[in-house]
Amino acid sequence: MKDTRDIATPSKTKEILHKHGFTFKKSLGQNFLTEPNVLRKIVATAEIDDTTNVIEVGPGIGALTEQLAKSAKEVLAFEIDDRLIPVLADTLYDYKNVKVIHQDVLKADLIKLTAENFTDTTLPLKVVANLPYYITTPIMMHFLESDLPVAEMVVMMQKEVADRISAEPGTKAYGSLSIAVQYFMEAKLAFIVPKTVFVPQPNVDSAILKLTRRSEPAVDVINEKEFFKLTKAAFQLRRKTLWNNLLHAYGKDDTTKNWLTKSLTQAAIDPKRRGETLSLSEFEALSNAMMSISK
Ligand code: SAM
Repeated sequence: MKDTRDIATPSKTKEILHKHGFTFKKSLGQNFLTEPNVLRKIVATAEIDDTTNVIEVGPGIGALTEQLAKSAKEVLAFEIDDRLIPVLADTLYDYKNVKVIHQDVLKADLIKLTAENFTDTTLPLKVVANLPYYITTPIMMHFLESDLPVAEMVVMMQKEVADRISAEPGTKAYGSLSIAVQYFMEAKLAFIVPKTVFVPQPNVDSAILKLTRRSEPAVDVINEKEFFKLTKAAFQLRRKTLWNNLLHAYGKDDTTKNWLTKSLTQAAIDPKRRGETLSLSEFEALSNAMMSISK
């Protein structure tokens, strides 16, 4: 008789792991979801239907992939662990709209691979994943900086990182990561996931973050690279003033000091403030002033 249980049910997960003699690798962030309801909630949050293409990072044994395949047009999943490739061929055998790519997602040419693997590349593209936590930030940045037209990302990560990404100015969690992501996407914490629904259980709490692409970047900067350099510099030494952080990053010579003073004055920003108190628009004003005033 055909097995109609979802892959993620604890009993079926156990059977799959046993059948393939699979042992978890902590170094690859392998914490598998064993609660079909959480997976369905993730798919519902991502608002996926048969006119959506989906990229998944780290399918594991296919628990989330299966739910995505049921709703999406096509799913492209990147898995680094060679031991999981035959497992996925087995567990996802019935889902003909799934392609698994055996590759480190951070090394993947996303533009080329999506063009090669999706039948209709004009469909909206969403990234949905239970991320490997040891590389949450690099994966987020890899997608954001890839020029891939990702309409939405619905991703599970450590709650602490989700808090940092969605943080508002003036809060403890606000930093260069909040700015790097919020520049491109609107960020909302969708829901919290308890440790108990994973095998093995992680040490940290998890959260689902929903990121929606803005039609235009949040602010209008003259030079994106310089803007991100500035926002990184402003948070380098957390307890120091903006002024001290700027000197640390750009130099302490008189010419630099003069240039920074003029730029801060033009942007109407008090150098004694701390980086975390500056809004995105204030960083925009300061970055644009630094670009337009010559040293
Ligand atoms: N999606 C599955 C689930 O929800 O049960 C597994 C999620 S588990 C947190 C993370 C997965 O990412 C693992 O399967 C792991 O092998 C894979 N992974 C780790 N590093 C990766 C990388 N650099 N590129 C692609 N996959 C990776």
